Amino acid sequence: MSIATLGILRHVCEMCGGSCQGVNVSLSSPEELAQVLGQAEQLGVSDPAPDGVLRRVGGRCVFLGDDALCRIHGAWGLSAKPKVCQQYPMIATRVGDETRVGLDPGCFHSVKSWVTGPQIPGGSLMVSVSDQPDAVLAHEERVMSVLEHAESTEQALANLIPGDLEGFLGRWIRALQAVELADLLADPDTSPSLRHSLGPMAQALPSWTTIPSPPELSENARSFALHAAKRMVWLRLCPKIPSPAVVGLLSLGGVMACGWTNTEDAAFGQALAGWMRAIRAPAVLGRLLPSPQSLQTLVEG
Ligand code: SF4
Repeated sequence: MSIATLGILRHVCEMCGGSCQGVNVSLSSPEELAQVLGQAEQLGVSDPAPDGVLRRVGGRCVFLGDDALCRIHGAWGLSAKPKVCQQYPMIATRVGDETRVGLDPGCFHSVKSWVTGPQIPGGSLMVSVSDQPDAVLAHEERVMSVLEHAESTEQALANLIPGDLEGFLGRWIRALQAVELADLLADPDTSPSLRHSLGPMAQALPSWTTIPSPPELSENARSFALHAAKRMVWLRLCPKIPSPAVVGLLSLGGVMACGWTNTEDAAFGQALAGWMRAIRAPAVLGRLLPSPQSLQTLVEG
């Protein structure tokens, strides 16, 4: 079995607690469940893992403290946390004989450290690996090549769609407006980190009656955006969307929408992380692409 990465992995954890919100943290074994139950009892946390998934309160993991730090980590250290938490934002995805290791662009501060942060050894944190089918490998290679060789998000988008970019962006805005993002963010179960990161986009969306001017992003943010889309496709971070081209399209479309609303690096990076999380959520996907026909209309007009 070979291990592959998308270049050198660099990351600094800002300990923001954003990753401990809005996600299903599934426990990997009966032993892990028993450990969590014991820890919960000592921390005074009731019913921590119904159905083997960590309970959330107001979108936040039940173990996340008011100081945005993990209470299990605080009491017993990193190795006492569930495996998936120890590893995050490192993702390991097995496709055929290859284990792909990379960083989730859904981490809210990736944009800050993806070039300058300390190097993380690819294999060192691999405690949780998901298996993915290799049926779409050729298709995936083509999409990765488009993302690799594009000089801008606009160019990558133009190379992924059959028609003109302007027509696509007009349809993309209408598809985004149909999501009614403000309504989803107002749900009490939505995580505060998602509400914070995507709030500006949700506010701006109804006013987009024409295509906004191209985002004026820094060189770092522009490069990160293309890299983040590659991570989404290559690490198979949207298992509910089998087509690599559609994952690429939704990621790049999100880059445009995040850039239209946030031009400063940190705010753009947080919005993009929120978006990369949002497109994995059935509630968002179900409104964005409610049917195969809606996807065809979005892509082809
Ligand atoms: S157990 Fe700790 S690290 Fe894992 S999601 Fe909950 S608060 Fe975060």
